[in-house]
Amino acid sequence: MAGVQDKLITSLTEDKNALPTSKITIVGVGQVGMACAVSILQKDLADELALVDILEDKLKGEMMDLQHGSLFLKTPKIVANKDYSVTANSRIVVVTGGVRQQEGESRLDLVQRNVNVFKFIIPQVVKYSPDCIIIVVSNPVDILTYVTWKLSGLPQHRIIGSGCNLDSARFRYLMAEKLGVHPSSCHGYILGEHGDSSVAVWSGVNVAGVTLQSLNPAVGTDKDSENWKEIHKQVVDSAYEVIRLKGYTNWAIGFSVADLVESIVKNLARVHPVSAMVKGMYGIENEVFLSVPSVLNAKGLTRVINQKLKDEEVAQLKKSADTLWNIQKDLKDL
Ligand code: NAD
Repeated sequence: MAGVQDKLITSLTEDKNALPTSKITIVGVGQVGMACAVSILQKDLADELALVDILEDKLKGEMMDLQHGSLFLKTPKIVANKDYSVTANSRIVVVTGGVRQQEGESRLDLVQRNVNVFKFIIPQVVKYSPDCIIIVVSNPVDILTYVTWKLSGLPQHRIIGSGCNLDSARFRYLMAEKLGVHPSSCHGYILGEHGDSSVAVWSGVNVAGVTLQSLNPAVGTDKDSENWKEIHKQVVDSAYEVIRLKGYTNWAIGFSVADLVESIVKNLARVHPVSAMVKGMYGIENEVFLSVPSVLNAKGLTRVINQKLKDEEVAQLKKSADTLWNIQKDLKDL
């Protein structure tokens, strides 16, 4: 007997097996993963969203809560499971799983615990979505981006670390507050390590093409009477400060990841300061991932902008690279 569905709908062609074209998976449904999920949903970037975690109840609860909002969203399918088959055919996989910093703990302190988590996550991701682009968010993000590259066997242009995308956004917000101009018109890049050794490229900081350095040659240095350097210090301290106040950071990283996803899904070729393999650039000799201005399009991270850096900026970048390599070289079984 035909039911309501059959009586209501005439099928012109079989469409039950239609594959998603813009499926996005989030691994890890903690504070950061869910902020990424909500930001991606609100921007209508996915035709299917998959969530994975090891905590089954939390996973199901988050999935149901999002599904109940379907009326207000344009992502027709939201699924979740601890089995990675649920992630099959993802175009982009955002990895936020693992442990986060406790109060006072540096990002680099997390390394071994999260490497072990990644040894489980990454092979599963690649098994079900061999053509995906992976965006790594878990910390220490630059090292885990390298670890993901090694564990996945994917080409480097399909492995992107969220890197200094958030640091640069924080910098542009603080600059905007100081100047009374919206962050989108305040240009500046924080490059290198996402964390304590990041590099502010003061030579390029500008509004409408007017560099601050042309107006105040000491900008960003210790000799600067306006103390612009303080805003880079605030960027470095921001995560520690927010973690001290609320226990974790999530909203800004969620917005910033959705911005990266948008550049990929819409093939925008926008430039983002994200973590890329920089061996051979600026005299860096080892296989490390650091943030450089990178063009993101539908293929991933295919090109890097050769930003002209001052000698001291190059020296700082190399120091970041050495710090990371000193930790990476001792990682086992990659
Ligand atoms: P959280 O503790 O709230 O969530 C982590 C989630 O990962 C948990 O739900 C946990 O169950 C899950 N998880 C653990 N092992 C897993 C596994 N094997 N497979 C799948 N899921 C697993 O932490 P959070 O606040 O969401 O932070 C997540 C990560 O993001 C941390 O490493 C944090 O440092 C990092 N982070 C990065 C940035 C950045 O700019 N790159 C910013 C903020 C936070």
